Amino acid sequence: MTNRAAIALGSNLGDRLSHLRFAIERLRRLGTVAAVSSVYETAPVGGPEQGPYLNAVVVVDTPLSPAELLAATQAIEADAGRVRVERWGPRTLDLDIVTMVDGSGAPIAVEATDLQIPHPRAHQRRFVLEPLAEVWPDAPLVDATANRLLPAVTGQEVERLGRGWEDPRRGVAVAWLAAQFASIVAWAALVVATAQLPPPWVAALPGVVLAAGGSALAVWALAAMGGSVSPLPEPGAGTTLVDSGPYRWMRHPIYAGLVVGMLGVAVFVRSAAAAAGAGVVGVLLWLKARYEETRLRMAVPGYVEYSRRVRGRMVPLPPYSKPPTVLR
Ligand code: ATP
Ligand code: CA
Ligand code: CA
Repeated sequence: MTNRAAIALGSNLGDRLSHLRFAIERLRRLGTVAAVSSVYETAPVGGPEQGPYLNAVVVVDTPLSPAELLAATQAIEADAGRVRVERWGPRTLDLDIVTMVDGSGAPIAVEATDLQIPHPRAHQRRFVLEPLAEVWPDAPLVDATANRLLPAVTGQEVERLGRGWEDPRRGVAVAWLAAQFASIVAWAALVVATAQLPPPWVAALPGVVLAAGGSALAVWALAAMGGSVSPLPEPGAGTTLVDSGPYRWMRHPIYAGLVVGMLGVAVFVRSAAAAAGAGVVGVLLWLKARYEETRLRMAVPGYVEYSRRVRGRMVPLPPYSKPPTVLR
């Protein structure tokens, strides 16, 4: 007989996203993972001063009994390096059994000293209800379903970071990079085909200034990244935020520098087609950056706040007149 359980995942120590991914990988061994919610960032509730959490909910169909499931989830927490120091303190991984139903869909209630199901505090927490309602709206909790309980907690702040976080999307990342590479090669062919050389100084001078300026911006940004730069729009484990150098003015200065440099070349060779081509590459890079940011939000602590502080993706923009609320 298969039971269905909702498990709430939380992490606010170390590489949070990697800890949540580790949990999924291990939960897959306990049965079938039927659904995975978006990942959310939430301010800590109760306990000592500590960093923000990543939270998500996973629905697992498993033959394990409630007690066996608790033992299994506690083993996963321990293997993720969890050390219990103080109640509600920071942790690498927290797995709570939120609710459980049996094969016929009837709620399973447990009232033991070491295990209560449904979880006695889940219904007061938006960081549990929000992801739970996403994947299992009718999940039975104390007195009501997740969906019905949600309106009462919408005053609590949570930030939805997005879906598809449970695995790195290598294939999508490689496809973006291939598109970028192909578009730049096509642009170079266009330059060769349409160049009018040698240029008069009215074209040569601004062309060289733009090309040099764009290159300088890109090199400055590469230096600010300090060698931790990858052309793939998928952050590696433990990627940290860089907000120095040109990253103070825009979030993707390498792409911006590249496009400005390409425009400079187009001006130098007096090709309207090459200038338009640089614009097309610019649009593609902007879209790639937009995709990349859906991944950075999940993987890089502080990225959500950074993207509010530094508004421009590839051009500097004035700051918000009224800063949006920031989780912390
Ligand atoms: P909270 O339970 O308020 O979210 P917490 O997750 O920080 O707090 P822990 O230190 O992880 O608390 O767990 C304390 C104990 O709670 C565990 O040792 C476990 O025996 C017990 N417990 C009771 N009910 C549950 C449940 N539904 N899921 C997980 N643990 C539970
Ligand atoms: Ca908990
Ligand atoms: Ca817990």
